[in-house]
Amino acid sequence: MTNSVRRTPLIAGNWKMNLDHLQAIAFVQKLAWGLADAKHDASSVEVAVFPPFTDLRSVQTLISADKLPIAFGAQDVSEHESGAYTGEISGAFLAGLDCRYVIIGHSERRTLHAESDEQVAAKVKAALKHNLAPIICVGETAEDLEKHGQSAVPVAQLKAAIEGISSTVDIVVAYEPVWAIGSGQAATPEQAEQVAAALRAVLVETLGEDVAAKTRILYGGSVKASNIAGFMREPNVDGALVGGASLDLTEFSSIVRYQKHVGL
Ligand code: PEP
Repeated sequence: MTNSVRRTPLIAGNWKMNLDHLQAIAFVQKLAWGLADAKHDASSVEVAVFPPFTDLRSVQTLISADKLPIAFGAQDVSEHESGAYTGEISGAFLAGLDCRYVIIGHSERRTLHAESDEQVAAKVKAALKHNLAPIICVGETAEDLEKHGQSAVPVAQLKAAIEGISSTVDIVVAYEPVWAIGSGQAATPEQAEQVAAALRAVLVETLGEDVAAKTRILYGGSVKASNIAGFMREPNVDGALVGGASLDLTEFSSIVRYQKHVGL
């Protein structure tokens, strides 16, 4: 039932702390030219970029002025609305810049900034309050994998992140095994599918069949042009969250055009 619904695949590029606002403009412009040359159909694959906060205004201006078929969002959001939170960025500010998405709970935030499951859940609520679709990142470390198997930690993280949210919301889930991020060692498509299916079961249980059926589940972790097609063949994998390869225009454009590699 949940897999009979068509979900528009999403290829999302997480730039992390790379590309300043001038480099961002050049990159997005060239990406758009490439998509136009390839007669990219935005209804068949959605493309989104996640630049650093300081680039968002420039990216918004370019995309809206030229009506480019590229969505964009931020890499994080504060759980707070406003006030004395030095260095934080609120959902209201991101919504004011027309962000459609926000990445929440990336493993680098969880590890380097000690972000807890509770904070991730608060950020999800803060994003939804401003109609930003959260891309909720979950994934196990190599140690978790050894101790608990592959699905247990991502499942627990997703349950914590969506607790108490309404069943009508627009969310995206990104399964990113921590051991696969930036390591060059991606999960296999079968591993990604197994965890994605477990995550979809959590969505059914928590938010109901309809939301589960329309929610996109991405795979992330060392995705490249040479391995994207394998992931996209899996029924529960609806796209990719791409880190390193999203900074290479040729590679990222080729990932976006994965349908051509598999003749879909
Ligand atoms: C990421 O950081 O979200 C990621 C998937 O990185 P990479 O593609 O470089 O493994």
